[in-house]
Amino acid sequence: NVSASTASSPSPDMLLGGLLSAGFDESSCQSRYRSNLYRKPSPFPLSPHLAQKLRKYEAYHKKCGPGTKRYRRAVKQLKAGRNADHSECKYVVWFPCNGLGNRMLTIASTFLYALLTDRVLLMHVAPEQEGLFCEPFPGSSWVLPGDFPENNPHKLHIGAPESYANMLKSGVVRNDDPNSVPASSLPPYVYLHVEQFQLKLSDNVFCDEDQVVLGKFNWMVLKSDSYFAPALFLTPMFEEELARMFPQKEAVFHHLGRYLFHPTNKVWGIIRRYYEAYLARVDEKIGFQIRIFPEKPIKFENMYDQLMRCIREQRLLPELAGAAEPANHTAGGAAGKVKAVLIASLYSGYYEKIRGMYYESPTRNGEVVAVFQPSHEEQQQYTSNEHNQKALAEIYLLSYCDKIAMTAWSTFGYVAYSFAGVKPWILLRPDWDKEVSAVACVRSASVEPCLHSPPQLGCRAKKNVDVAAVKPYVRHCEDVGFGLKLF
Ligand code: GDP
Repeated sequence: NVSASTASSPSPDMLLGGLLSAGFDESSCQSRYRSNLYRKPSPFPLSPHLAQKLRKYEAYHKKCGPGTKRYRRAVKQLKAGRNADHSECKYVVWFPCNGLGNRMLTIASTFLYALLTDRVLLMHVAPEQEGLFCEPFPGSSWVLPGDFPENNPHKLHIGAPESYANMLKSGVVRNDDPNSVPASSLPPYVYLHVEQFQLKLSDNVFCDEDQVVLGKFNWMVLKSDSYFAPALFLTPMFEEELARMFPQKEAVFHHLGRYLFHPTNKVWGIIRRYYEAYLARVDEKIGFQIRIFPEKPIKFENMYDQLMRCIREQRLLPELAGAAEPANHTAGGAAGKVKAVLIASLYSGYYEKIRGMYYESPTRNGEVVAVFQPSHEEQQQYTSNEHNQKALAEIYLLSYCDKIAMTAWSTFGYVAYSFAGVKPWILLRPDWDKEVSAVACVRSASVEPCLHSPPQLGCRAKKNVDVAAVKPYVRHCEDVGFGLKLF
């Protein structure tokens, strides 16, 4: 479903000022050009350098990607147990972890890492993720071919001997004099385990010495549960390039996400039908994303009360008229306007109650409130393809909202507001020993997702430095006190 640029080439506006490649046929992936028409224009101008970098990457991916002679040669070397010197193509193979929001954040982080280190990004696509996203790179594929030799996800864990940290420990590699290590002396691939461990990013590789050694491996396999893009900003050797790519640091996921992720025509059908039926003609759209984490359950009444407090304090929805008050159908500019509330949640209770409220009582200013919820799946199902299609559709629908309130800690919500380029209100988690959060919600300082587990700054430093205190472009997250967020 990939074709060269032809008569049906989309206009420059549809390519988001050069973010998207002109090398696709529009019909193969309608969302690529249609989805952004449902949103306000991006508030973050694209840097010409990033656009250039993406075009260069696309050419590289096409040259080295699956199906090419170079790819076959690289796989042959991997199978032969050799890491060749002076390889023309280098690869990073992404493996999935957790739910869809987490996966989108780690794919984008891995892609940024690939851009910075001249690697081709390939994805291990599990059955539950098949058919969700269009190919992002023209004339090639990002799907890891099925005959890839190191295709066993069970081998990828913190104790794997192939992990970089374990190779360092066992003396297979050294990072004290990285320039002296010949590439051909290294194992055929390295595993980078970038997961949260004791509230820190494990493997702690975001330092120059380690990156020099890692750069010598032609094959890297990576698994992560974290939005590790902010950690790349803490690696001195990447700093300058990142500053050119992202003059506004809070737009990293906003741009990379809009570049990489395009729902396939099937999922786009779900999104488009829903949007056209319920959201296209309203005056304002407000998204509420309510996520109850199994590991930190919150009672329905408490979550509902918190949402109501947030709505009231931040004036997100019109007030109801008192019982004795006549409804005002004529006053002010708001009368007759329609505000749509889109609810994303696994449960239907929040929708039922909010809809009931505006069904039973008029609003004080005469505004009309229409409440919608596309699905309520009840259970999260990591391995169901249909379930993931709905999850993806809802992330997109949320991302068309003008205002968003979301549950703390949820990567599902992070992706939605970041696509939108809208700073959300975050419904804070109660303190660990409390059932109710004292503060209902706070406004996020940026549209970047939060990295829940910070890396250690200055890799060999003995003491623990607070990154947010020394780097002017990172802050602690509103919802995860020790987390980091670019802004
Ligand atoms: P997180 O756990 O909130 O950080 O988000 P993830 O997306 O990584 O994992 C949660 C998964 O649960 C999602 O991918 C969905 O499969 C499911 N899920 C959670 N909330 C919703 C929702 O509002 N709508 C739908 N359709 N699925 C949801």
